[in-house]
Amino acid sequence: MIVFSKVNKWYGEYQALADVNAEVKKGEVVVVCGPSGSGKSTLIRTVNRLEEIQGGQILYNGHDVYGVDANLNSLRSRVGFVFQNFNLFPHMSVLDNIMLAPLKLKGLNTSYVKNKALELLDMVGMSHKANAYPNQLSGGQQQRVAIARALAMEPPAMLFDEPTSALDPEMVGEVLSVMKSLAKEGMTMMCVTHEMNFAREVADKVWFMDAGKILETSDPETFFQNPTHPRAQSFIRDIR
Ligand code: ATP
Ligand code: MG
Repeated sequence: MIVFSKVNKWYGEYQALADVNAEVKKGEVVVVCGPSGSGKSTLIRTVNRLEEIQGGQILYNGHDVYGVDANLNSLRSRVGFVFQNFNLFPHMSVLDNIMLAPLKLKGLNTSYVKNKALELLDMVGMSHKANAYPNQLSGGQQQRVAIARALAMEPPAMLFDEPTSALDPEMVGEVLSVMKSLAKEGMTMMCVTHEMNFAREVADKVWFMDAGKILETSDPETFFQNPTHPRAQSFIRDIR
């Protein structure tokens, strides 16, 4: 579903991704972890072409993201991306936030889009706030709406970059539980997160990054009990 082949990324003189090879398979949940500055955000952002790369190839659902004929708008409309900061449109109701992209970019009919939006609001437990505005919602509620908004485009995969790290601790659980139910439904997911319990319980694979490289791709049990790479071993010691 998402294939990274020999991906290299430089910020000026600084190499942020060094020969990254990895694959997120259809239906898989991958958690990307590693120390600050290791390249996690850079890696996940390449899938949506929010960064340019200087070498290698990324395939998303069969499309060459950096191919000469790649269409940026159509690519982005096919990748569900949820960031740390929810980025809802402040002047639009929750329902309108969710309906905007499918109406504008997909040209679907209003009643279909509205029904789908209401279903998604139900799924994230936000039906009661359909007509509220973002500033009337808690951070956890905004993030759940942001997830519903991304899902409204019916993307083949969802990407998350630290979706809970800007939240007050008491709101982390509600967002993780939405992500967990998505995973249960078989959604393909690539998640950068520091929530190691989520990784333990939900991930099929954990990717450990350090200094622009993926040093380890293991199932969670192996990663947490018996990591191979010394850097992964010390990372796990530190978070215990
Ligand atoms: P964190 O856990 O703190 O979010 P990260 O693993 O997501 O870290 P990245 O944001 O991918 O790390 O950054 C990887 C490296 O690239 C860091 O050393 C960072 O300073 C550098 N970097 C990121 N964005 C830029 C940029 N726009 N210009 C220059 N260097 C950058
Ligand atoms: Mg980051």
